[in-house]
Amino acid sequence: MQAQNHDTADGAHVLRLEDIDEDIARDLLARYGLGLQRVAAGKPIPGSFWGDEEAGIIGTTVYARGDTPVHSLLHEAGHLIVLPAERRTNVHTNATDSIEEEDATCYLQIVLADELPGVGRERLMADMDAWGYSFRLGSTRAWFGEDAENARRWLVERQLLDGQGQLIHR
Ligand SMILES: [Zn+2]
Repeated sequence: MQAQNHDTADGAHVLRLEDIDEDIARDLLARYGLGLQRVAAGKPIPGSFWGDEEAGIIGTTVYARGDTPVHSLLHEAGHLIVLPAERRTNVHTNATDSIEEEDATCYLQIVLADELPGVGRERLMADMDAWGYSFRLGSTRAWFGEDAENARRWLVERQLLDGQGQLIHR
């Protein structure tokens, strides 16, 4: 994903996996054929591109600790969701070098947040800003609302979103 800096003071206040119902997150990933593997506190997270508490991906499994931010979990899951099934099995740590897939992943993680009680897109976008995601228009919300048409269309074309930008349930 985009340049990020997780040393910001605000980053301490983002929602973490331990703040939400892990079973609901697990069910959400399972709808897309993905597993959620919980990693013990203090242990390195397998397949984590950014290291520290950021989620990791290997094959169809997303790895996360209790202190993994929800936005990070949804982002890495999103990377796998946007990939065709045949490409997922080869994923280790870094899902893509494609800008289109990266943007689609950022868009999808925001929509997916609505599926998690107590999270929702508004909170997720605020957490992304606090974490240091950087978008051309300055905030995640501005990007999502005004500058992400290509990402939305990409997801509609792949039948992950409907024409209104809503998640296609599966
Ligand atoms: Zn990414």
